[in-house]
Amino acid sequence: MPNPKVSRPVIVWFRQDLRLADNPALSAAIATGKPVIAAYILDDANAGEWTMGGASRWWLHHSLAALGESLAACGVRLTLREGDPERILRDLIDKTGADTVVWNRLYEPWARERDGALKTCLSEMGIQARSYNGALLREPWTVESKSGGPYKVFTPYWRAASDKDADFELLDPPASITTYVGELTSDSLDDWKLNPSDPDWAAGFGEVWSPGEAGAADRLAVFVKGGIRGYSERRDIPGEPGTSRLSPHLHYGEVSPRQVWMALKNACAEGVDADKFRAELGWREFAHHLLHYFPSLPEENFQEKFDRFPWRDDEAGFQAWTRGRTGIPIVDAGMRELWATGWMHNRVRMIAGSFLVKNLLISWRRGETWFWDTLVDADLANNAAGWQWIGGSGADAAPYFRIFNPVSQGERFDPDGRYVRHWCPELDALPNALIHKPWTASRLELEYAGIRLGETYPEPIVDLGETRKRALAAFAQTKDAA
Ligand code: FAD
Repeated sequence: MPNPKVSRPVIVWFRQDLRLADNPALSAAIATGKPVIAAYILDDANAGEWTMGGASRWWLHHSLAALGESLAACGVRLTLREGDPERILRDLIDKTGADTVVWNRLYEPWARERDGALKTCLSEMGIQARSYNGALLREPWTVESKSGGPYKVFTPYWRAASDKDADFELLDPPASITTYVGELTSDSLDDWKLNPSDPDWAAGFGEVWSPGEAGAADRLAVFVKGGIRGYSERRDIPGEPGTSRLSPHLHYGEVSPRQVWMALKNACAEGVDADKFRAELGWREFAHHLLHYFPSLPEENFQEKFDRFPWRDDEAGFQAWTRGRTGIPIVDAGMRELWATGWMHNRVRMIAGSFLVKNLLISWRRGETWFWDTLVDADLANNAAGWQWIGGSGADAAPYFRIFNPVSQGERFDPDGRYVRHWCPELDALPNALIHKPWTASRLELEYAGIRLGETYPEPIVDLGETRKRALAAFAQTKDAA
């Protein structure tokens, strides 16, 4: 039974804010002076279709392990529970006498619904429930168009939302935390089996990623020190480490966008590279803005006319795409990078996405679901906005007639084939002029490169020119039907 003489504890409910620094909910909890209970609840049921995918679960396992260690260094144990948050928080409150619950806000429609109901329920129980912004520079409802509604186009949105001189006051990580001293049962992280086994398809992820706040801080430091130089051009070259790779760290809140913003500012990063990078953070903000105002964005075409689009049911094509065996080198390289590392370069996401949606005429929803399962940075807002952009059905989408040609894209952004050679080593011996179109090589050229098309590397599963024409006709039909 809770002792009434002791100050009643406060529960910090960690979600996608797995860090100690610049964590408004954690800082607010510490400021109450109450003993702190730190909890993470694995809630698969409420997420429905958007339950975390396999790669995200791998990340979560390691990120929670890191958070648990950081909290332990401050004297606090991270309590892990699985199930419905309302039931679990009620149980924690009953057992500890906690009178306050704090968390940082989420923007996924299912999470908003759950958290709204929970706030009401807690306040009916006489428990204070307080939430904070720990994930965005500007929350969606704080940016309004001149006519009062949401923005649907990025450029005016970002013009209204951003101020490049903005200063954010960051919250220091706590040196120590007054901890709740009673016994609390916790699940064991290993028992959640977030890490895949049999087969362990994530075996290579650990070589590429360091989930957790310290890993995020390292990446950010290295990026602002050197990586930002030349970003506006290097960001499009998949064979170079030209982007920050902060996306999974940002998704899990191991670093806040405000910390990223201020790191850039403190490093005096200015000019076109810094502007471009800030604008990418802006796309993340814009995707959350769209998801807030259009909660069906992950499931429904933003533009209704696409509801009549004649998508094809092509299981063999889809399988070839997921496995990186389409016979189109840059597409295959991207899909293999995704499988091996849980991440794909942004330029290649666009090329591989366009190939699925436009050359294969497979619905963007299938690509979105595959990415959801395989990306370590899978994020409902960014993924949905990215796929609707590629599909042409989005708010501020690529025009329907912009069909990425994977050969010319490859030749332009991977001119020496470094990226393709890395992920499709069976093509390595081809000269640069052929690396993005091995099917145009002569029999002799293929022989010299040790390639047997259809055996060591697939023949293209579609004719790029024919399928381009087919897509244009299908898109034109949709346009006419509007
Ligand atoms: P950087 O170039 O270093 O950019 C810095 C940060 O800005 C990123 O970490 C990310 O948080 C944000 N950002 C950059 N580009 C975008 C963008 N186009 N839209 C929204 N935010 C952006 N990003 C995700 O975080 N999760 C997803 O599930 C996701 N799915 C995508 C699906 C498709 C089809 C496409 C075309 C893009 C998708 N993106 C997604 C956006 C983008 O590809 C990644 O954010 C980016 O590749 C991450 O690499 P980075 O951290 O090195 O980016």
